Amino acid sequence: MVYTLKGYKGPYTRAKNKTAKMKFSQVIGHEELKERLRKNIDEGRVSHAQLFVGEHGWGTLQLALAYVQYLHCSNRSGGEPCGVCPSCVQMQSLAHPDVHFVYPTIKPKGSSTPPTSDLYIEQWREVVADNEACFSEHTWYEAIGADNAQGLITTKEADEIIRKLSYKAFEGTHKSVVVWMPEKMHTAAANALLKILEEPWENTLFLLVSEHPEVLLDTIISRTQSVNVGRIEQEALRSYATRTLGATEEQAEVAARLADGSVLNLRRIVAEGGSAAATDNFELFTRLMRLSYGNKHLDLFEWAEQVAAMGRENQKSFLEYALRLIRESYMLTAGMESVSYLWGDEKAFCSKFAPYVANHNVEALVAEIERALRDVGQNGNAKIVFTHFALAVSKLIAMRA
Ligand SMILES: [Zn+2]
Repeated sequence: MVYTLKGYKGPYTRAKNKTAKMKFSQVIGHEELKERLRKNIDEGRVSHAQLFVGEHGWGTLQLALAYVQYLHCSNRSGGEPCGVCPSCVQMQSLAHPDVHFVYPTIKPKGSSTPPTSDLYIEQWREVVADNEACFSEHTWYEAIGADNAQGLITTKEADEIIRKLSYKAFEGTHKSVVVWMPEKMHTAAANALLKILEEPWENTLFLLVSEHPEVLLDTIISRTQSVNVGRIEQEALRSYATRTLGATEEQAEVAARLADGSVLNLRRIVAEGGSAAATDNFELFTRLMRLSYGNKHLDLFEWAEQVAAMGRENQKSFLEYALRLIRESYMLTAGMESVSYLWGDEKAFCSKFAPYVANHNVEALVAEIERALRDVGQNGNAKIVFTHFALAVSKLIAMRA
C-alpha cells in the first residue's frame, strides 16, 4: 500500500484500473452513523442535498462514496452494496455514468480556459484509490501538480454540472453529484450551485463534503441536510493500524490515541515509527538538544544551515515533530508517563532528556517552535528563521529551573 505522506516529493505515477474500497464495511469506524445513512436509503428518505462535515482525516469522503455506491447498487443486501453489479463495478472505478465528481482544480500551465474537474478525473481516480478515499488537500494538489497554488471550483464547472444533469440517467433512476471541498467554489459557481439546490432536480442527489462549512453561503447551508461526521473512534483506528498499516499492538495502541480521530494522523504516526523521515527528524531533534545543553554555538549554526536547506514541507514536518517531542518530554517530567505517546528510541531519549523541559521553559519552547512554523509558512528566510530558532532553543534548554 502506498501512502502519500506529508512532505513526500516522489514521482507521481499513474496506474490504471485501480478500484477504490467504498462499501460501508470498508469505511473506518462510524458504526452508528453508517447505520443511520443506510437506513435513510433503505427507507427511501434520501434528502436531495446533504452536507458531510468534518476533517478529511475523519473519513468524510469515504462515507459519502459509500453512501452513493449503496444508493446506486441494484442488488443491495445486508446493509451493503453487492460490489459486483454493473453499477457497483463502475462506482468502484469512479466511472459511473450517473455519478459526477467536482473538486478544486488549477489551470494547467499554458492554458487560457478555466479548468473543470473532468480534466483531472484520472488523477482523482488514482488519488481516491491509492488513499482509500481519505487524503489531505495537500495530497490532492500535489497530484494535479498544483504545488503551492490554491485550487478552485470554477464557474465553468457549475455550467458543466447543469449540462451533465440535463441528460437522462443512464443506468438506474438516480443521479449523484459529489462535491469535494465546496468551500473552494468561486462565488459565481457557488451562486450557480445555489440555484440548482433551490429548485431540486428530480432524483438528483448532491453530496457536499466539506471541512470548512463556515465559509459556505448561508443559503447553501440552509438548503442542505447536515451530516456531522465526528472523529473516528479510537478502537476503530487501533484495529485499522494493526490490520491494514502493519503496526504492532503497542504502536497501534499509542498511534490510535495520538491520532485524535484522524486516519491521516494515524498513517503519518505509524509511518513515522520506522520511516526515513521520522529517523531524520529524530536525528535532527536529538542533535539540536545535545548541542543545546552542550552550548556548542558553532555546531548550532551548522545545524541551522542544514535545516534551512531542507525545503519547506520537510521543515514543517520537523517542527511539528519537535513540538510533539517537547510536549511528550514535558509529560514525562510532570510524571504523566501513563498518557505519554512515545515508544522505542523516542521514549529512551525523552526519558533522559525530560528533566531539561519543565515549567520554567516549556511554554517558551513551544512558542519558539510555533513561531518558526509560522515563519516557514509565510516563506520567511529559512537561514534566518532556523538560526534564530536554534539559538533561542539552546538558550531555553540551557536555562536552569
Ligand atoms: Zn451492486
